[in-house]
Amino acid sequence: LSERLGGVFDRLTKQGALTEADVLTALREVRVALLEADVSLPVARDFIKRVQEKATGSAVTKSITPGQMVVKFVHDELVRVLQGDGQADALKIDNPPATILMVGLQGSGKTTTTAKLAKRLKDRAGKRVLMASLDTNRPAAMEQLAILGGQIGVDTLPIVKGESAVQIAKRAKTQASLGGYDVLFLDTAGRLHIDEVLMDEVQSVRDIAQPREVLLVVDGLTGQDAVNVASEFDGKVGISGVVLTRMDGDGRGGAALSMRAVTGKPIRFVGLGEKMDAIETFDAERVAGRILGMGDIVALVEKAQETFEAEQAERMAKRFAKGMFNMNDLRMQLEQMLKMGGMQGLMGMLPGMAKHQAAAAEAGIDDSMLRRQIALIHSMTKRERANPDMLQASRKKRIAAGAGLEVQDLNRLLKQHKQMADMMKKMGKGGMMKNIIRQFT
Ligand code: GDP
Ligand code: MG
Repeated sequence: LSERLGGVFDRLTKQGALTEADVLTALREVRVALLEADVSLPVARDFIKRVQEKATGSAVTKSITPGQMVVKFVHDELVRVLQGDGQADALKIDNPPATILMVGLQGSGKTTTTAKLAKRLKDRAGKRVLMASLDTNRPAAMEQLAILGGQIGVDTLPIVKGESAVQIAKRAKTQASLGGYDVLFLDTAGRLHIDEVLMDEVQSVRDIAQPREVLLVVDGLTGQDAVNVASEFDGKVGISGVVLTRMDGDGRGGAALSMRAVTGKPIRFVGLGEKMDAIETFDAERVAGRILGMGDIVALVEKAQETFEAEQAERMAKRFAKGMFNMNDLRMQLEQMLKMGGMQGLMGMLPGMAKHQAAAAEAGIDDSMLRRQIALIHSMTKRERANPDMLQASRKKRIAAGAGLEVQDLNRLLKQHKQMADMMKKMGKGGMMKNIIRQFT
């Protein structure tokens, strides 16, 4: 995902000029990229819609370039969704012994995460921690936790053969109280898929254990499945947070984003490897940055934009002064207009144009018209743009079709161009155009 988005913003940066059309194009790419990263369709759609709404609303803000807008709004929205209401803080472990119930599918990383978190609490907060495996399905599972406990110096509940998960939970609670532990981790059994038996067991354990936290451990690489698992567990057991494992290596933000958006539950930690220290608190800013991979793009875009506009204005002014005004010039004008807040905003700012504003609105001269005109010009070849007089019927047909419009739309554009070109010629003689362009770039 980050590579892909990086590519999108690279392209924007290199183009120099950033138009509202670029913003839309970029957002389309962002949407595809999100989908490819296994963000669910409704989540991606929703996300893009919100970014677009926010970005479009501030199109009139002069100090923000469209490039900055895309980057900033995508980034901010990512952080907003990932962050939620910001309760991804420390685990609730006051009133010892505080029980933390670990749930999730088999192989998601429950046992590993249990040990990682136990070590963290012991090392960083000096807590006395007890861990108990409730995994009666696989005999090796209990030993696995005991071995990890030995490695990290955290106590584990002695293994008693033949007990049920609920019995183990009870014994663990008693042991935690008697032994003066601060925190008790209950590492439950997983299944390959969600089933009734698993859910019933986890519910019974939850009722007995009265945990302060129910942490769902999900494999960050399973994308969309992870989201379904989270919804299921939250519905049946109620979770207080999510731990996303395997976010090392190929781990990307896609799962994190859907997870947050769909369940509304905070992502508390991310697992970043098999080692006992490979866990971090979830950092929305960092994950958003990783999803975007954007680095200094904002600064780059800004610079490119400034240089472009200064050069552009100078060059255009010179051309107009000579009475030159071809389709490329018109396109730049149209794009500039869109950027300046569209037709209405622009006319309002032009001296003497305000009185034409109502007439223009009546004649259907609006932003969507500007976009259609830009599309028509894009559909022309280089030669055609430089020399619109060469446009015969067959060329017109091709150009209109290329833009998904009618030949009469093109004719209207050509007529408008001619009028503007004539006007430029007149204005150019007085040097007036140069001043007007200056004013708007
Ligand atoms: P459980 O069945 O849910 O208890 O899963 P385990 O804790 O036994 O983990 C299954 C496998 O995933 C083990 O080989 C772990 O070392 C590995 N694992 C767990 N968390 C991570 C992680 O964050 N990154 C990577 N790369 N491997 C992990
Ligand atoms: Mg396990």
